[in-house]
Amino acid sequence: MSAGPQSEAQPDARPDDIRSGGCLCGAVRYEAKAPLRAVVACHCVQCRKTSGHYAAMTSVPLDRFTLTRADGLAWFRSSEKAERGFCNRCGSNLFWKPAGEARVSITAGTLDGPTGLCIERHIYCDFAGDYYAIAEAVPQLPEH
Ligand SMILES: [Zn+2]
Ligand SMILES: [Zn+2]
Repeated sequence: MSAGPQSEAQPDARPDDIRSGGCLCGAVRYEAKAPLRAVVACHCVQCRKTSGHYAAMTSVPLDRFTLTRADGLAWFRSSEKAERGFCNRCGSNLFWKPAGEARVSITAGTLDGPTGLCIERHIYCDFAGDYYAIAEAVPQLPEH
C-alpha cells in the first residue's frame, strides 16, 4: 500500500478525537475533543443530591468543548464555587462548571458509546452515603 494523497494518516483530523454525548431526550448535546481527564467520583452532598447517587465526572478545557444543542440546558448555581448544568426536559445531570476556571466537568455516563476512561479517585468520601461501599482500588480521599 502506498501513502498517496488520500492517506488518512492525520491524527489531529481524525473524528476519533471527538467525543460526543448528551442527555436522555436529546435536547442537550455536546462534543469534547480528546484527551478527556480520567473520571473522578465525588461523594459530596451536592453531587449525591443532583445525581441521585454519586457523581462520576470527566473534565475538559472549555476550548475543547462545544455545545451542539443546548435548547434543554439549564444551569443551577449550587454554590459560590460552581454551577451545574442539566436538561430541563428529561432531568439528565450533565455538567459541573467551576467559577473562574476555563474548564467544564462532564458526567461520564452522558458520553456516547465506550468512553475508554476509568475512575482514578474518589473524593469527599467522608460524605458518602451509608448504603454503598466504594469498590475500586483507587485513592479514596476524605475531602477534595
Ligand atoms: Zn434531555
Ligand atoms: Zn461533589
